[in-house]
Amino acid sequence: MDETSAIDVLQEAARRAVAYVQSVRDRPVAVSAMALQRLDELKHPLPRTGLDAGEVVRHLDEIGSPATVATTGGRYFGMVIGGALPATVAASWLATAWDQNASFRHTSPIAAVLEDVSLRWLTDLFGLPDSVGGAFVTGASMANMAALASARHALLARLDWDVEAKGLYGAPELRVIVSGEIHVTLSKALSLLGLGRDRVIRVPTDRQGRLLLDELPALDDRTIVCIQAGNVNTGDFDPAAEVCRRARDAGAWVHVDGAFGLWALAHRDFADLAEGVSEADSWATDAHKWLNVPYDSGIVLVRRPADLRAAMSVSAAYLAENVDGEREPSHYTPESSRRARGIEIWAALLTLGRDGIADLVERNCRHARAFARGLEAGGFEILNDVVLNQVLVSFGSPETTRAVICLLQAGGVCWCGGTVWQGRTAMRISVSSWATTNTDVQLSIDAMIRAAEQALRASPA
Ligand SMILES: *Cc1c(COP(=O)(O)O)cnc(C)c1O
Repeated sequence: MDETSAIDVLQEAARRAVAYVQSVRDRPVAVSAMALQRLDELKHPLPRTGLDAGEVVRHLDEIGSPATVATTGGRYFGMVIGGALPATVAASWLATAWDQNASFRHTSPIAAVLEDVSLRWLTDLFGLPDSVGGAFVTGASMANMAALASARHALLARLDWDVEAKGLYGAPELRVIVSGEIHVTLSKALSLLGLGRDRVIRVPTDRQGRLLLDELPALDDRTIVCIQAGNVNTGDFDPAAEVCRRARDAGAWVHVDGAFGLWALAHRDFADLAEGVSEADSWATDAHKWLNVPYDSGIVLVRRPADLRAAMSVSAAYLAENVDGEREPSHYTPESSRRARGIEIWAALLTLGRDGIADLVERNCRHARAFARGLEAGGFEILNDVVLNQVLVSFGSPETTRAVICLLQAGGVCWCGGTVWQGRTAMRISVSSWATTNTDVQLSIDAMIRAAEQALRASPA
Protein backbone atom coordinates (compact mmCIF):
# COMPACT_ATOMS: atom_id res chain seq x y z
CA MET A 1 0.00 0.00 0.00
CA ASP A 2 1.42 3.40 -0.91
CA GLU A 3 1.45 6.31 1.49
CA THR A 4 -1.56 8.10 0.00
CA SER A 5 -3.82 5.10 0.17
CA ALA A 6 -2.65 4.41 3.77
CA ILE A 7 -3.80 7.92 4.70
CA ASP A 8 -7.03 7.54 2.75
CA VAL A 9 -7.96 4.38 4.61
CA LEU A 10 -7.28 5.95 8.01
CA GLN A 11 -9.40 8.96 7.11
CA GLU A 12 -12.15 6.68 5.83
CA ALA A 13 -12.10 4.71 9.10
CA ALA A 14 -12.19 7.92 11.14
CA ARG A 15 -15.12 9.25 9.09
CA ARG A 16 -17.05 6.03 9.62
CA ALA A 17 -16.23 5.90 13.34
CA VAL A 18 -17.46 9.46 13.76
CA ALA A 19 -20.69 8.60 11.93
CA TYR A 20 -21.14 5.66 14.32
CA VAL A 21 -20.63 7.85 17.37
CA GLN A 22 -23.07 10.44 15.99
CA SER A 23 -25.83 7.89 15.46
CA VAL A 24 -25.35 5.49 18.37
CA ARG A 25 -27.74 7.32 20.72
CA ASP A 26 -30.59 7.09 18.21
CA ARG A 27 -30.45 3.40 17.44
CA PRO A 28 -31.93 0.46 19.35
CA VAL A 29 -29.55 -0.68 22.09
CA ALA A 30 -29.84 -4.36 21.19
CA VAL A 31 -28.78 -5.71 17.80
CA SER A 32 -31.60 -6.23 15.28
CA ALA A 33 -32.38 -9.65 13.83
CA MET A 34 -31.44 -8.33 10.40
CA ALA A 35 -28.03 -7.17 11.57
CA LEU A 36 -27.41 -10.57 13.17
CA GLN A 37 -28.44 -12.27 9.95
CA ARG A 38 -25.94 -10.22 7.95
CA LEU A 39 -23.07 -11.62 10.07
CA ASP A 40 -23.39 -14.75 7.92
CA GLU A 41 -21.82 -12.77 5.08
CA LEU A 42 -18.56 -12.81 7.03
CA LYS A 43 -18.44 -16.58 7.20
CA HIS A 44 -16.62 -17.31 3.95
CA PRO A 45 -13.30 -19.05 3.37
CA LEU A 46 -10.10 -17.02 3.56
CA PRO A 47 -9.71 -15.49 0.07
CA ARG A 48 -6.62 -16.34 -1.91
CA THR A 49 -5.87 -12.71 -2.71
CA GLY A 50 -6.43 -9.99 -0.14
CA LEU A 51 -8.96 -7.18 -0.40
CA ASP A 52 -8.09 -3.54 -0.67
CA ALA A 53 -7.78 -1.98 2.82
CA GLY A 54 -10.53 0.56 2.09
CA GLU A 55 -12.79 -2.29 1.07
CA VAL A 56 -12.03 -4.12 4.33
CA VAL A 57 -12.97 -1.05 6.37
CA ARG A 58 -16.19 -0.52 4.40
CA HIS A 59 -17.14 -4.18 4.85
CA LEU A 60 -16.41 -4.01 8.59
CA ASP A 61 -18.50 -0.88 9.06
CA GLU A 62 -21.45 -1.99 6.93
CA ILE A 63 -21.77 -5.40 8.53
CA GLY A 64 -20.03 -4.81 11.85
CA SER A 65 -21.39 -1.50 13.14
CA PRO A 66 -25.07 -2.58 13.10
CA ALA A 67 -24.08 -5.80 14.90
CA THR A 68 -22.64 -3.92 17.88
CA VAL A 69 -24.57 -3.56 21.11
CA ALA A 70 -24.98 0.19 21.64
CA THR A 71 -23.16 0.19 24.98
CA THR A 72 -21.77 3.68 24.39
CA GLY A 73 -25.14 5.34 23.76
CA GLY A 74 -26.12 6.08 27.36
CA ARG A 75 -28.99 3.61 27.79
CA TYR A 76 -27.13 0.33 28.24
CA PHE A 77 -27.47 -0.78 31.87
CA GLY A 78 -26.46 -4.44 31.60
CA MET A 79 -23.47 -6.05 33.32
CA VAL A 80 -21.23 -3.23 34.59
CA ILE A 81 -19.98 -1.88 31.31
CA GLY A 82 -19.52 1.90 31.18
CA GLY A 83 -18.98 3.79 27.95
CA ALA A 84 -15.89 5.34 26.41
CA LEU A 85 -15.09 9.01 27.02
CA PRO A 86 -14.35 10.89 23.76
CA ALA A 87 -10.83 11.76 24.94
CA THR A 88 -10.08 8.10 25.59
CA VAL A 89 -11.34 6.93 22.20
CA ALA A 90 -9.28 9.64 20.52
CA ALA A 91 -6.19 8.76 22.60
CA SER A 92 -6.72 5.13 21.71
CA TRP A 93 -6.79 5.94 17.97
CA LEU A 94 -3.55 7.86 18.26
CA ALA A 95 -1.95 5.17 20.42
CA THR A 96 -2.99 2.50 17.93
CA ALA A 97 -1.30 4.47 15.18
CA TRP A 98 1.81 4.51 17.37
CA ASP A 99 1.56 0.71 17.81
CA GLN A 100 3.77 0.72 20.88
CA ASN A 101 4.82 -2.37 22.78
CA ALA A 102 4.40 -1.33 26.40
CA SER A 103 6.46 -4.09 27.92
CA PHE A 104 9.71 -2.16 28.33
CA ARG A 105 10.79 1.41 28.82
CA HIS A 106 13.06 1.11 25.79
CA THR A 107 10.27 -0.24 23.54
CA SER A 108 8.05 2.72 24.44
CA PRO A 109 9.23 5.57 26.66
CA ILE A 110 5.89 7.33 26.28
CA ALA A 111 3.90 4.27 27.37
CA ALA A 112 6.14 3.75 30.39
CA VAL A 113 5.94 7.37 31.50
CA LEU A 114 2.16 7.55 31.10
CA GLU A 115 1.90 4.39 33.23
CA ASP A 116 4.11 5.98 35.91
CA VAL A 117 2.04 9.16 35.88
CA SER A 118 -1.30 7.35 35.88
CA LEU A 119 -0.25 5.10 38.76
CA ARG A 120 0.63 8.13 40.87
CA TRP A 121 -2.63 9.87 39.99
CA LEU A 122 -4.63 6.74 40.77
CA THR A 123 -3.06 6.05 44.15
CA ASP A 124 -3.63 9.69 45.02
CA LEU A 125 -7.25 9.59 43.79
CA PHE A 126 -7.98 6.43 45.80
CA GLY A 127 -6.23 7.80 48.88
CA LEU A 128 -3.63 5.02 48.93
CA PRO A 129 -0.09 5.38 50.31
CA ASP A 130 2.59 6.77 47.97
CA SER A 131 4.49 3.51 48.20
CA VAL A 132 1.72 1.59 46.38
CA GLY A 133 2.71 0.24 42.98
CA GLY A 134 0.89 -1.64 40.30
CA ALA A 135 0.39 -2.61 36.72
CA PHE A 136 -1.98 -2.21 33.79
CA VAL A 137 -3.71 -5.41 32.74
CA THR A 138 -6.72 -6.55 30.71
CA GLY A 139 -9.34 -6.20 33.43
CA ALA A 140 -10.27 -6.95 37.02
CA SER A 141 -10.02 -10.70 36.39
CA MET A 142 -6.33 -10.43 35.62
CA ALA A 143 -5.87 -7.74 38.27
CA ASN A 144 -7.35 -10.12 40.87
CA MET A 145 -5.02 -12.83 39.64
CA ALA A 146 -1.92 -10.59 39.76
CA ALA A 147 -2.82 -9.33 43.23
CA LEU A 148 -3.39 -12.83 44.56
CA ALA A 149 -0.12 -14.00 43.02
CA SER A 150 1.53 -11.20 45.03
CA ALA A 151 -0.23 -12.37 48.18
CA ARG A 152 0.79 -15.96 47.56
CA HIS A 153 4.37 -14.85 47.07
CA ALA A 154 4.51 -12.65 50.17
CA LEU A 155 2.95 -15.13 52.59
CA LEU A 156 5.03 -18.06 51.39
CA ALA A 157 8.26 -16.04 51.24
CA ARG A 158 7.76 -15.26 54.93
CA LEU A 159 7.69 -19.01 55.49
CA ASP A 160 10.92 -19.39 53.51
CA TRP A 161 9.17 -20.95 50.54
CA ASP A 162 9.96 -19.69 47.03
CA VAL A 163 6.64 -20.40 45.33
CA GLU A 164 7.70 -18.97 41.97
CA ALA A 165 10.57 -21.47 41.82
CA LYS A 166 9.13 -24.47 43.63
CA GLY A 167 5.41 -24.23 43.01
CA LEU A 168 2.79 -25.24 45.53
CA TYR A 169 3.61 -28.96 45.85
CA GLY A 170 5.01 -29.43 49.32
CA ALA A 171 4.56 -25.77 50.21
CA PRO A 172 3.29 -24.68 53.62
CA GLU A 173 -0.48 -24.55 53.36
CA LEU A 174 -2.14 -21.17 52.91
CA ARG A 175 -5.70 -20.50 53.93
CA VAL A 176 -7.99 -18.36 51.76
CA ILE A 177 -11.04 -16.71 53.25
CA VAL A 178 -13.51 -15.04 50.91
CA SER A 179 -16.55 -12.92 51.40
CA GLY A 180 -19.51 -15.15 50.53
CA GLU A 181 -20.60 -13.02 47.55
CA ILE A 182 -17.18 -12.70 45.95
CA HIS A 183 -17.16 -12.31 42.14
CA VAL A 184 -16.75 -15.46 40.02
CA THR A 185 -13.59 -14.10 38.44
CA LEU A 186 -11.95 -14.01 41.84
CA SER A 187 -12.73 -17.70 42.24
CA LYS A 188 -11.22 -18.25 38.82
CA ALA A 189 -8.05 -16.40 39.83
CA LEU A 190 -7.75 -18.63 42.90
CA SER A 191 -8.15 -21.73 40.75
CA LEU A 192 -5.55 -20.56 38.23
CA LEU A 193 -3.09 -19.92 41.07
CA GLY A 194 -3.47 -23.39 42.53
CA LEU A 195 -5.17 -22.01 45.62
CA GLY A 196 -8.39 -23.78 44.71
CA ARG A 197 -11.83 -22.44 44.00
CA ASP A 198 -13.63 -24.70 46.46
CA ARG A 199 -10.89 -24.95 49.07
CA VAL A 200 -11.72 -21.50 50.37
CA ILE A 201 -13.62 -20.59 53.52
CA ARG A 202 -16.69 -18.61 52.49
CA VAL A 203 -17.92 -16.15 55.07
CA PRO A 204 -21.72 -15.69 55.16
CA THR A 205 -23.07 -12.28 54.16
CA ASP A 206 -26.03 -10.09 55.01
CA ARG A 207 -28.92 -9.04 52.74
CA GLN A 208 -26.71 -6.53 50.92
CA GLY A 209 -24.05 -9.19 50.32
CA ARG A 210 -21.71 -7.75 52.97
CA LEU A 211 -19.43 -10.10 54.88
CA LEU A 212 -20.69 -10.71 58.43
CA LEU A 213 -17.85 -9.84 60.79
CA ASP A 214 -19.19 -12.17 63.48
CA GLU A 215 -18.68 -15.05 61.07
CA LEU A 216 -15.12 -14.14 60.10
CA PRO A 217 -12.75 -16.82 61.42
CA ALA A 218 -9.70 -15.81 63.45
CA LEU A 219 -6.95 -14.68 61.07
CA ASP A 220 -3.28 -15.60 61.02
CA ASP A 221 -0.19 -14.92 58.94
CA ARG A 222 -0.91 -17.77 56.54
CA THR A 223 -4.25 -16.35 55.48
CA ILE A 224 -5.40 -14.35 52.47
CA VAL A 225 -8.74 -12.60 52.96
CA CYS A 226 -10.64 -11.49 49.83
CA ILE A 227 -13.28 -8.82 50.20
CA GLN A 228 -15.18 -6.62 47.77
CA ALA A 229 -15.68 -2.95 47.22
CA GLY A 230 -18.83 -2.99 45.11
CA ASN A 231 -20.94 -6.12 44.87
CA VAL A 232 -22.10 -6.71 41.26
CA ASN A 233 -25.68 -7.09 42.40
CA THR A 234 -26.18 -4.60 45.23
CA GLY A 235 -23.15 -2.33 44.77
CA ASP A 236 -22.44 -2.59 48.50
CA PHE A 237 -19.06 -2.93 50.24
CA ASP A 238 -17.65 -5.45 52.70
CA PRO A 239 -16.68 -3.89 56.07
CA ALA A 240 -13.07 -3.26 55.05
CA ALA A 241 -12.00 -1.22 58.08
CA GLU A 242 -12.61 -4.00 60.60
CA VAL A 243 -11.38 -6.80 58.31
CA CYS A 244 -8.15 -4.88 57.68
CA ARG A 245 -7.69 -4.12 61.38
CA ARG A 246 -7.96 -7.80 62.29
CA ALA A 247 -5.70 -8.79 59.38
CA ARG A 248 -3.06 -6.23 60.30
CA ASP A 249 -2.90 -7.57 63.87
CA ALA A 250 -2.65 -11.16 62.66
CA GLY A 251 -0.30 -10.67 59.71
CA ALA A 252 -2.89 -11.78 57.15
CA TRP A 253 -3.15 -10.32 53.63
CA VAL A 254 -6.31 -8.48 52.59
CA HIS A 255 -7.18 -8.25 48.90
CA VAL A 256 -9.97 -5.96 47.72
CA ASP A 257 -11.85 -6.67 44.49
CA GLY A 258 -13.00 -3.18 43.61
CA ALA A 259 -13.67 -3.69 39.92
CA PHE A 260 -16.04 -0.75 39.84
CA GLY A 261 -16.57 0.13 43.50
CA LEU A 262 -13.03 1.38 44.06
CA TRP A 263 -13.96 4.49 42.05
CA ALA A 264 -16.40 5.47 44.80
CA LEU A 265 -13.29 6.47 46.76
CA ALA A 266 -13.13 9.47 44.44
CA HIS A 267 -16.22 11.06 46.00
CA ARG A 268 -16.54 12.17 49.63
CA ASP A 269 -20.21 11.06 49.78
CA PHE A 270 -19.01 7.47 49.68
CA ALA A 271 -16.29 7.81 52.31
CA ASP A 272 -18.34 5.84 54.85
CA LEU A 273 -19.05 3.03 52.39
CA ALA A 274 -15.38 2.75 51.46
CA GLU A 275 -14.00 3.19 54.96
CA GLY A 276 -10.88 1.14 55.51
CA VAL A 277 -10.49 0.03 51.88
CA SER A 278 -7.18 1.89 51.71
CA GLU A 279 -5.83 -0.24 54.58
CA ALA A 280 -5.73 -3.40 52.44
CA ASP A 281 -2.63 -5.02 50.91
CA SER A 282 -3.82 -5.22 47.31
CA TRP A 283 -6.60 -3.94 45.09
CA ALA A 284 -8.02 -4.88 41.70
CA THR A 285 -10.05 -2.48 39.62
CA ASP A 286 -11.26 -1.91 36.09
CA ALA A 287 -10.73 1.17 33.99
CA HIS A 288 -13.12 -0.05 31.29
CA LYS A 289 -16.04 0.06 33.71
CA TRP A 290 -16.43 3.24 35.72
CA LEU A 291 -13.51 5.23 34.35
CA ASN A 292 -15.10 4.82 30.91
CA VAL A 293 -12.04 3.97 28.85
CA PRO A 294 -12.31 1.61 25.85
CA TYR A 295 -11.92 -2.14 26.36
CA ASP A 296 -9.88 -3.77 27.68
CA SER A 297 -8.34 -2.15 30.69
CA GLY A 298 -7.80 -3.06 34.34
CA ILE A 299 -5.41 -2.08 37.09
CA VAL A 300 -3.73 -4.04 39.88
CA LEU A 301 -2.40 -2.13 42.87
CA VAL A 302 -0.20 -3.59 45.60
CA ARG A 303 0.90 -2.00 48.88
CA ARG A 304 4.44 -3.37 48.54
CA PRO A 305 5.24 -3.36 44.81
CA ALA A 306 8.15 -5.73 45.45
CA ASP A 307 5.60 -8.51 46.08
CA LEU A 308 4.01 -8.00 42.66
CA ARG A 309 7.39 -7.75 41.07
CA ALA A 310 8.57 -10.97 42.68
CA ALA A 311 5.46 -12.77 41.42
CA MET A 312 5.65 -11.39 37.87
CA SER A 313 9.23 -10.66 37.00
CA VAL A 314 10.98 -13.07 34.70
CA SER A 315 14.34 -11.86 35.93
CA ALA A 316 15.44 -12.58 39.48
CA ALA A 317 13.72 -10.59 42.18
CA TYR A 318 17.05 -9.34 43.61
CA LEU A 319 18.08 -7.59 40.39
CA ALA A 320 17.99 -3.81 40.38
CA GLU A 321 14.93 -2.15 38.79
CA ASN A 322 16.97 -1.09 35.78
CA VAL A 323 19.95 1.15 35.23
CA ASP A 324 18.21 4.31 36.38
CA GLY A 325 16.13 2.69 39.08
CA GLU A 326 13.00 3.32 37.04
CA ARG A 327 9.99 1.02 36.99
CA GLU A 328 10.19 -1.50 34.15
CA PRO A 329 6.54 -2.19 33.21
CA SER A 330 6.92 -5.84 32.23
CA HIS A 331 8.37 -6.69 35.65
CA TYR A 332 4.91 -6.17 37.09
CA THR A 333 2.60 -7.77 34.54
CA PRO A 334 1.56 -11.33 33.69
CA GLU A 335 1.96 -10.44 30.01
CA SER A 336 5.16 -9.67 28.20
CA SER A 337 4.22 -7.84 24.97
CA ARG A 338 1.26 -5.66 25.70
CA ARG A 339 -0.70 -2.73 24.32
CA ALA A 340 -0.20 0.58 26.09
CA ARG A 341 -3.36 0.70 28.20
CA GLY A 342 -1.97 3.42 30.44
CA ILE A 343 -2.43 5.92 27.61
CA GLU A 344 -6.23 5.85 27.67
CA ILE A 345 -6.29 5.80 31.47
CA TRP A 346 -4.07 8.86 31.52
CA ALA A 347 -6.36 10.57 28.97
CA ALA A 348 -9.47 9.78 31.03
CA LEU A 349 -7.92 11.04 34.27
CA LEU A 350 -6.61 14.19 32.61
CA THR A 351 -9.84 15.04 30.78
CA LEU A 352 -11.99 14.48 33.89
CA GLY A 353 -9.72 15.72 36.63
CA ARG A 354 -10.43 14.93 40.25
CA ASP A 355 -13.76 16.80 40.20
CA GLY A 356 -14.86 15.20 36.94
CA ILE A 357 -14.33 11.70 38.30
CA ALA A 358 -16.20 12.53 41.50
CA ASP A 359 -18.98 14.05 39.40
CA LEU A 360 -19.23 10.99 37.14
CA VAL A 361 -19.57 8.70 40.17
CA GLU A 362 -22.08 10.98 41.87
CA ARG A 363 -24.18 11.42 38.71
CA ASN A 364 -24.40 7.68 38.00
CA CYS A 365 -25.36 7.00 41.63
CA ARG A 366 -28.00 9.74 41.48
CA HIS A 367 -29.36 8.08 38.33
CA ALA A 368 -29.46 4.72 40.09
CA ARG A 369 -31.53 6.26 42.89
CA ALA A 370 -33.84 7.84 40.28
CA PHE A 371 -34.38 4.38 38.75
CA ALA A 372 -35.24 2.96 42.16
CA ARG A 373 -37.66 5.81 42.94
CA GLY A 374 -39.34 5.65 39.53
CA LEU A 375 -39.82 1.90 39.60
CA GLU A 376 -41.02 1.93 43.19
CA ALA A 377 -43.52 4.62 42.26
CA GLY A 378 -44.64 2.31 39.44
CA GLY A 379 -45.44 -0.30 42.08
CA PHE A 380 -42.39 -2.53 41.74
CA GLU A 381 -40.13 -3.84 44.44
CA ILE A 382 -36.49 -2.74 44.77
CA LEU A 383 -34.56 -5.61 46.34
CA ASN A 384 -31.42 -3.76 47.44
CA ASP A 385 -30.56 -0.60 49.32
CA VAL A 386 -29.29 1.54 46.46
CA VAL A 387 -26.02 2.67 48.02
CA LEU A 388 -24.07 3.01 44.78
CA ASN A 389 -24.86 2.56 41.07
CA GLN A 390 -26.58 -0.85 41.11
CA VAL A 391 -30.33 -1.44 41.32
CA LEU A 392 -32.18 -4.76 41.63
CA VAL A 393 -35.87 -4.73 40.77
CA SER A 394 -38.50 -7.45 40.87
CA PHE A 395 -41.61 -7.17 38.72
CA GLY A 396 -43.42 -9.94 40.60
CA SER A 397 -42.98 -13.65 39.98
CA PRO A 398 -39.70 -14.92 38.46
CA GLU A 399 -41.56 -15.58 35.17
CA THR A 400 -42.94 -12.05 35.05
CA THR A 401 -39.55 -10.51 35.80
CA ARG A 402 -37.95 -12.61 33.09
CA ALA A 403 -40.71 -11.65 30.64
CA VAL A 404 -40.19 -7.95 31.41
CA ILE A 405 -36.46 -8.29 30.74
CA CYS A 406 -37.16 -9.93 27.35
CA LEU A 407 -39.70 -7.29 26.34
CA LEU A 408 -37.40 -4.49 27.46
CA GLN A 409 -34.43 -5.85 25.54
CA ALA A 410 -36.54 -6.38 22.41
CA GLY A 411 -37.99 -2.87 22.69
CA GLY A 412 -34.55 -1.35 22.11
CA VAL A 413 -34.94 1.78 24.28
CA CYS A 414 -32.52 0.44 26.85
CA TRP A 415 -30.92 -2.82 27.88
CA CYS A 416 -30.85 -4.59 31.27
CA GLY A 417 -30.01 -8.15 32.21
CA GLY A 418 -31.33 -10.52 34.82
CA THR A 419 -29.89 -11.98 37.98
CA VAL A 420 -30.90 -14.07 40.94
CA TRP A 421 -30.20 -12.29 44.22
CA GLN A 422 -30.48 -14.39 47.37
CA GLY A 423 -33.09 -16.60 45.77
CA ARG A 424 -35.07 -13.78 44.11
CA THR A 425 -35.18 -13.34 40.35
CA ALA A 426 -34.46 -9.71 39.54
CA MET A 427 -33.62 -7.31 36.77
CA ARG A 428 -30.28 -5.63 37.34
CA ILE A 429 -29.65 -2.00 36.43
CA SER A 430 -26.07 -0.79 36.44
CA VAL A 431 -25.49 2.89 35.77
CA SER A 432 -21.86 3.38 34.88
CA SER A 433 -21.63 5.38 31.67
CA TRP A 434 -20.56 9.01 31.34
CA ALA A 435 -23.08 9.28 28.47
CA THR A 436 -26.22 8.60 30.53
CA THR A 437 -28.40 11.69 30.94
CA ASN A 438 -31.48 12.47 33.03
CA THR A 439 -33.52 12.05 29.84
CA ASP A 440 -32.02 8.60 29.23
CA VAL A 441 -33.02 7.59 32.74
CA GLN A 442 -36.58 8.85 32.34
CA LEU A 443 -37.02 7.25 28.89
CA SER A 444 -35.71 3.99 30.33
CA ILE A 445 -37.96 4.04 33.41
CA ASP A 446 -40.94 4.62 31.09
CA ALA A 447 -39.86 1.71 28.88
CA MET A 448 -39.46 -0.56 31.93
CA ILE A 449 -42.91 0.28 33.22
CA ARG A 450 -44.45 -0.22 29.75
CA ALA A 451 -42.71 -3.62 29.47
CA ALA A 452 -43.96 -4.57 32.93
CA GLU A 453 -47.55 -3.59 32.09
CA GLN A 454 -47.35 -5.58 28.89
CA ALA A 455 -45.95 -8.64 30.69
CA LEU A 456 -48.59 -8.41 33.41
CA ARG A 457 -51.40 -8.08 30.82
CA ALA A 458 -50.08 -11.20 29.06
CA SER A 459 -49.92 -13.27 32.26
CA PRO A 460 -51.15 -11.54 35.41
CA ALA A 461 -48.76 -12.52 38.24
C1 LIG B 1 -16.57 -6.98 36.41
C2 LIG B 1 -16.05 -7.50 37.68
C3 LIG B 1 -14.93 -8.37 37.71
C4 LIG B 1 -14.29 -8.88 36.46
O1 LIG B 1 -13.77 -7.84 35.70
P1 LIG B 1 -13.33 -8.02 34.18
O2 LIG B 1 -13.02 -6.63 33.80
O3 LIG B 1 -14.51 -8.58 33.46
O4 LIG B 1 -12.17 -8.92 34.15
C5 LIG B 1 -14.45 -8.76 38.94
N1 LIG B 1 -15.05 -8.35 40.08
C6 LIG B 1 -16.11 -7.54 40.09
C7 LIG B 1 -16.71 -7.12 41.39
C8 LIG B 1 -16.65 -7.08 38.89
O5 LIG B 1 -17.69 -6.25 38.89
